[in-house]
Amino acid sequence: MGRTFFRGANLIDGINKPQPNTTVVVEGDRIKAVGTNGNIPKPTVQDVVYDLGGKALMPGMVMCHYHVAYDNVSDLNDIDMKHPPTYLTLIAAKNAELLLRSGYTGAVGAGTMHNIDVTLKRAINRHMIPGPHFLACGRDLVTTGDSVDCHPSFWKMNMDGLARICDGPDDFRKAVREEIKNGVEIIKLYPTGGHGLMWPADVMTMSQAEMDAAAEAAHERGKKIRGHIISKKGILAALKAGIDVIDHGDMMDEECIEGMLKQGTFVVPSLYFPWKMVEEKRKTGKASFGGVDEMAKGLEHSYQIIPKAQKAGVKFVIGDDFGVGAMPHGEYASELEAYVKGPGISPLEVITWATKNGYELLGLGKEGGTIEAGKLADLLVVDGNPAKDIGVLKDRENLDVVMKGGQLVTCQLTPSKARLQKAA
Ligand SMILES: [Zn+2]
Repeated sequence: MGRTFFRGANLIDGINKPQPNTTVVVEGDRIKAVGTNGNIPKPTVQDVVYDLGGKALMPGMVMCHYHVAYDNVSDLNDIDMKHPPTYLTLIAAKNAELLLRSGYTGAVGAGTMHNIDVTLKRAINRHMIPGPHFLACGRDLVTTGDSVDCHPSFWKMNMDGLARICDGPDDFRKAVREEIKNGVEIIKLYPTGGHGLMWPADVMTMSQAEMDAAAEAAHERGKKIRGHIISKKGILAALKAGIDVIDHGDMMDEECIEGMLKQGTFVVPSLYFPWKMVEEKRKTGKASFGGVDEMAKGLEHSYQIIPKAQKAGVKFVIGDDFGVGAMPHGEYASELEAYVKGPGISPLEVITWATKNGYELLGLGKEGGTIEAGKLADLLVVDGNPAKDIGVLKDRENLDVVMKGGQLVTCQLTPSKARLQKAA
């Protein structure tokens, strides 16, 4: 098997400023060499050479809040009742492929029913279907009457849907153990309302003791735990419990930031969803989900606090509720632009959130997330400069190459034949 040479790349490696005219050599599933023409091997006839002429080469991205099985959800009941599990699994498989083709070589689940994340991960890893590296999530572990406990009692559903109802620390402990038994690698909790849910942000929908028990049961088994947490009170309680990922965290402040830094907590702001809802209401006078006024306040606060948290060193990652409301699957990279246009984070910093930080949360920090010799060849070639205009990533047509583990997922480039003959 020959090697693949990408020459003349504008290298965005996930850490440093762009480095023009760089060559990246891929051999097998790994990056073999990265450098300028003097310090890298020469191609031979067995090798494939692509001359990029200044196109960007960057690491594959990670969607760190992903609902692979949400299919155009316009109401929470849709999630459980729209499709039978078999059909929904096929829809999810198509979404996983779409995510990969959109430049995301990794995904961290944020809640799914019928163990679909686990099933997909197995099928992807056996090369049965194309898809990203997956950290599998399971059902939403919630208390009675929580926002996600959405089916009216008189329906007497008694189904294994998205929500698993737990009351009291023992129930949470048992649920976490069962989820992990079924292959789940990251547990999802709902400690507060807000960010589009029925309960407002300042309502705690879990007790401290319940959060502590769930986190302990996950960590004892070496698994991660995440939570939908909006209010300051909720964030501080989650930090006390040792939750690994704060989803949204709209109302974080300096005290929360201090705790996040101390514990290395990941934060997924998911600003695209509230921005979309607020815009929708502004334009049409109504919104597909409730709590828009509260989300508008959260958004305003996020725009102020996120740059401070970024400066302080909080580990931000990207990911959002695609598959809900006016956010169809495939529109993924629109989220990246929301961090540049809203809180004014630089495109290069957002790329680091999407790549280096994402791989760290995925548990593959040593294996990927940056373009360095020895790492997995999970990379993108982009027709454009995302370090200047991150919006170029929104159009899949601009993704000339998506490569995962050295395998081409998409390739719109033609190998440089003339150069090959010269090398021969
Ligand atoms: Zn979500």
